Amino acid sequence: MRGTVYKSTGSWYTIKSEDGKFYNCRIKGKFRIQDIKSTNPVAVGDQVEFQLEQTGDESIGVIAEIKDRKNYIIRKSVKLSKQTHIIAANLDQVFLLVTLNNPTTYTIFIDRFLATAEAYDIPVVILFNKIDAYDPDEMVEVDHLFQLYSEIGYHCLKISAKTKHNVNQVKELMKDKISMFTGHSGVGKSTLINAVEPNMELRTAEISEQHQQGQHTTTFAEMYDLSFGARIIDTPGIKGFGIVDMEPEEIGDYFPEFFKLKSECKFNNCLHLDEPKCAVKQALEDGELAWSRYRSYIQMVTGEEDDNFRDRS
Ligand code: GDP
Ligand code: ZN
Repeated sequence: MRGTVYKSTGSWYTIKSEDGKFYNCRIKGKFRIQDIKSTNPVAVGDQVEFQLEQTGDESIGVIAEIKDRKNYIIRKSVKLSKQTHIIAANLDQVFLLVTLNNPTTYTIFIDRFLATAEAYDIPVVILFNKIDAYDPDEMVEVDHLFQLYSEIGYHCLKISAKTKHNVNQVKELMKDKISMFTGHSGVGKSTLINAVEPNMELRTAEISEQHQQGQHTTTFAEMYDLSFGARIIDTPGIKGFGIVDMEPEEIGDYFPEFFKLKSECKFNNCLHLDEPKCAVKQALEDGELAWSRYRSYIQMVTGEEDDNFRDRS
């Protein structure tokens, strides 16, 4: 039988088969998976082959094979720094919620996220949320960011999860796809999910309450079917994506507008820092690229965190 992993608890997996039924499954033997050293061989979103085995009254599935993943996101294990935990696999898109204030989403956060998603090969849709709450000056700023990221090629939408402005467009994008929602705490993820699917109860809230009580809970990703043919992966307690180890030389490849110019730089290994005849620096001087993007890039390449850099221009 063939199915999709909807939930994983470490040793048990809930798999939805192609006939729409859910089965409890486990793994037999060892898997060699795509050369990733991960603590979990099977992740939510994985496509698997499994066989049913009868044990008493119950039939239990045994996972026999995992199909190649089109992408996956990881989290580094703190204890075993070389090992990774695969949070989810086969994502069609991630919605990044951005707000100007309450909370502020800085461009360095957006750019780091976008570069990571490029590295993971996951399409991102940027949702500028809470547009009902902005004054005209703030709307100018939102429009500026909207234009900046649209021009690079990212799909952007201005929405209000509260008034449901453009929420139908979000639903349209979600149809027949597997999506994830991310963004700072307080940007409106839960409100948006409730707006697209009323009565949907994710565990996000539950988990954070437990955290407030000081309890330590292991959190696992889980996939949910929504009523309109969309699927979402909820990752309670997991903030954004894990950091991928990026070499300075490859970071520029994950800034699409820089990557497009790379072949025009004098040196084919140009880091766009102080090299002569750098097409990226030239385009910046000519006003064709955004300085905010370049500043984020520099921060990622040099690994420097500059707290004074809180500029959104
Ligand atoms: P989460 O932490 O990302 O899940 O954020 P929540 O969905 O819990 O939202 C945080 C706060 O922002 C709540 O008080 C929401 O009512 C509010 N909020 C969410 N979306 C909007 C919106 O579109 N407009 C306004 N004005 N407030 C919103
Ligand atoms: Zn260059």
